[in-house]
Amino acid sequence: DTRILIGTGHACTSITVGGPSASPVIIAGPCAVESREQLLTTAHAVKAAGANILRGGAFKPRTSPYQFQGLGVEGLKLLAEAREQTGLPIVTEVMETEMVDTVAEYSDILQIGARNVQNYALLRAAGKHSAKRPVLLKRGLASTVEEWLLAAEYIVAAGNPNVILCERGIRSYDPQTRNVLDLTCVPLIQELTHLPILVDPSHATGRRELVPAMSRASIAAGAQGLIIETHCDPSTALCDGRQSITPEQLARIVVETRALSHLM
Ligand code: PEP
Ligand code: MN
Repeated sequence: DTRILIGTGHACTSITVGGPSASPVIIAGPCAVESREQLLTTAHAVKAAGANILRGGAFKPRTSPYQFQGLGVEGLKLLAEAREQTGLPIVTEVMETEMVDTVAEYSDILQIGARNVQNYALLRAAGKHSAKRPVLLKRGLASTVEEWLLAAEYIVAAGNPNVILCERGIRSYDPQTRNVLDLTCVPLIQELTHLPILVDPSHATGRRELVPAMSRASIAAGAQGLIIETHCDPSTALCDGRQSITPEQLARIVVETRALSHLM
């Protein structure tokens, strides 16, 4: 199994993702970096809840061009400040090939989102950028497992073996949930590849009340960690508030999933 050490490029608390590990890795934070106060408040709260890594989008791939697009480089700077204050490594999305070096400079993990899983130029750039940050590669909205693994292969073939896969739900015909969480792919991926696999129950369900059960189910299925959208005040979130949980709800998920992982 590939074991990936996160957080070696900046002053923060490093953590290993993948391989046999007693505790699942918990990545938490807002969908988008909205302001200094929102990010720092949430960052301290998710750390207190037991998160290991802070997430937050500075560049947001929104369905409509009129929706909040993220704070850009200003958001990256706020994430670096949050890391300094909390010691949590940072994961944030990079959407454009030309921005890979800039995002890598500020972050500890480069996230490539569901919409970019077949952006081969971006995958190659994430593979060969000089800082060599690990890459969190989401599954595409309608990726087959093979297409997803071949996308990971682009990053590895370009020179970066540190790829973390993330199942985030796939499109279905049923609008009751945002996507359908394909938990079958967790043990399947572990049979097919040595790469670590995490689950994102937030984008998979689109509904915060479904996040705790799907978090537990993901760990029971063997996922090596979770990425969970958490906001200090979900009702005011500029992006994905409906699926965002509070830090208090996160704390409970951390306790439950860590307990579950000890049974496995
Ligand atoms: C996100 O993590 O905020 C995100 C946009 O995820 P996805 O690419 O899975 O939709
Ligand atoms: Mn989101």
